[in-house]
Amino acid sequence: MPAPTQHHRVLIIGGGTAGLTVAARLKRKGVQGVAVLEPSAVHYYQPLWTLVGAGAADIAASVRPQADYIPKGTRWIQDRAEEVDPVGQQVLTRGGECLAYDFLVVAPGIQLDWDRVLGLREALETPFVSSNYDFRLAPKTWEMVQAFQGGTALFTHPATPVKCAGAPQKIMYLVADHLRRGGLTGKSRVVFGSGARTLFAVQPFARVLEGVVDRYGIETHFGHDLVEVRAGTREAVFSVTRDGRREQVTLGYDLLHVTPPQSAPDFIKRSALAHQDGPNAGWVKAHKHTLQHPHHPNVFAIGDASDLPTSRTGAAVRAEAPVLVENLVAVMEGREPTARYDGYASCPLVTGYGRMLLAEFDYEGKPAPSLPFINTLVERRDLWLLKKYGLPHLYWDWMLRGRA
Ligand SMILES: Cc1cc2nc3c(=O)[nH]c(=O)nc-3n(C[C@H](O)[C@H](O)[C@H](O)COP(=O)(O)OP(=O)(O)OC[C@H]3O[C@@H](n4cnc5c(N)ncnc54)[C@H](O)[C@@H]3O)c2cc1C
Repeated sequence: MPAPTQHHRVLIIGGGTAGLTVAARLKRKGVQGVAVLEPSAVHYYQPLWTLVGAGAADIAASVRPQADYIPKGTRWIQDRAEEVDPVGQQVLTRGGECLAYDFLVVAPGIQLDWDRVLGLREALETPFVSSNYDFRLAPKTWEMVQAFQGGTALFTHPATPVKCAGAPQKIMYLVADHLRRGGLTGKSRVVFGSGARTLFAVQPFARVLEGVVDRYGIETHFGHDLVEVRAGTREAVFSVTRDGRREQVTLGYDLLHVTPPQSAPDFIKRSALAHQDGPNAGWVKAHKHTLQHPHHPNVFAIGDASDLPTSRTGAAVRAEAPVLVENLVAVMEGREPTARYDGYASCPLVTGYGRMLLAEFDYEGKPAPSLPFINTLVERRDLWLLKKYGLPHLYWDWMLRGRA
């Protein structure tokens, strides 16, 4: 690496949900010398894209200028990390800067691997294929849904980890509900092709979702990992393992919503901070309770890029951030990191227009309800209103400001 051009007391890689929440909390603790390395000029509230794809929210409400959320006194370096040297305590950027740090927070999120599905990029250029996982495509999902007048509506979930494991199916339930309301159910087949083995990893939420699938008459194919989209013939090709042998299964579509395969950002996979092999290969190592890196005590990881064995969600980040900041400040002051994250994550499972249940759970997969007095395990209208109006407000005005 070249000689450092800048030095920061705390360098945060990524100014997404996790990076900005940590920056805001550090500011509230009075920590000086914090810098955020973030290439994007805008910040996205990604959970809204589920509603955008179903015509229930405006895409413009999901984006705000990054500059408005970088805390005052925090330096914003608008560049991208390319290489991390945790021994030399330096980060090399795409712009050629070498940033030295005393403490590092790693929060670059998850990478969307669109090119791992053959023909997907070309298919996304057609009117029949879209994905809520991209800011530009979420509004297209709604256009595609409105144009659909019957046939096969196919929804996919890859075999890789994803952010918000509920999102691939939430849009499916909304579309199924839209078809029911438009009298198109009899003319349509709604199909879920999922690389996962079950609808949802945590019982009893999976049981509720099984009821939703039955109610809409959705056809499910588990262990089906999308590997190719043939736009010309409107076919989706899945890799399926049967009796130890891999084979391909082809399903036709008239509407296709794809959740792309996902992995840790490439520069993280290459770095000494990540697992080099095993089931967690590529993800940044972090102690599951303290979030501290096991080999580099001045490094902490948070959010989607970390190996924390919880559901990759903004809700998990909200619970991780205060723990990380408390432990980081402790280490900066020469104390032991004693704050503990219990794996809390939640997923607002939208099951139709005006209907939602809230899956909240911890590392043990135990339900961890946080809302008093209401049963969040049943589909409710007040939870839908929480998703549509309450959570965006909580995000922009409280979480990103380090207040919740
Ligand atoms: C369609 C959809 C629906 C969702 N629904 C929900 C939901 O209902 N509830 C929920 O809690 N969560 C939901 N999520 C997930 C949630 O948005 C993420 O889990 C959360 O944003 C993770 O925070 P993060 O900071 O780890 O990653 P992000 O918020 O994605 O931020 C990562 C940041 O790192 C930056 N970055 C990337 N590479 C580099 C680099 N090399 N150098 C520097 N910076 C870099 C990026 O530009 C980005 O700003 C949803 C996501 C999607 C896409």
